[in-house]
Amino acid sequence: MVLSNLYKEAKEKLIDEIENLQTQHEEEESLIRVTIQNKDFETNAIQMEVNESESKMSVLKDEIKKIIEKKENYSDEIRALEEKIDGLNTQMTEKHFEIHGMSKSNDMKLQKMEKLENEKNKLRDELDKMVAENVERVSSLSLKTENIRDNQSDSSENSCAICFEAYNKEDHYHSCITLCGHRFGLSCLEKLQAQQAQACCPICNKNFQACNVIKLF
Ligand SMILES: [Zn+2]
Ligand SMILES: [Zn+2]
Repeated sequence: MVLSNLYKEAKEKLIDEIENLQTQHEEEESLIRVTIQNKDFETNAIQMEVNESESKMSVLKDEIKKIIEKKENYSDEIRALEEKIDGLNTQMTEKHFEIHGMSKSNDMKLQKMEKLENEKNKLRDELDKMVAENVERVSSLSLKTENIRDNQSDSSENSCAICFEAYNKEDHYHSCITLCGHRFGLSCLEKLQAQQAQACCPICNKNFQACNVIKLF
């Protein structure tokens, strides 16, 4: 009896314990299930974040690619600009040389002009000298001419301009036409008057009459 009671008691105890354990197990199991569910949610959330980050990353990668392309374009442009600057520098140097050459040739032209100016002045001096010499020569010539004319007038005073014979106090008297002052031999003038109805002076062609003629000596 005692034994069967003990057994019964032990059996009941064991059943209680098993029940307790089962309950405990069920509770733990449900707890674990909840935990797993929570973990799943978290995992999903993390996965979503990862996806979002990846899409952001790809956008950023595209932007970086674009920036790199732009940078390459810029470096191309910079290279082109540098080439242009080089070209301009070369042109500047060429222009500088040209200007240098031009100023040199201008200097040479100025020197030539100075030389020509000097030659011109020399020629002008020579010309002035020649003109002065000629003036002297002309004045001496005119002096000579005057002398010759004086001599000639002397001879015309001594001889008639019509017959070139010397005057005398007989038929070829030294006479003057009072209207014009020209002198001839009296016989030559009388011959003129006898030949022409209107006598005129053989030198100036002025009409005269016998009463206009006077004897000089
Ligand atoms: Zn005469
Ligand atoms: Zn006359």
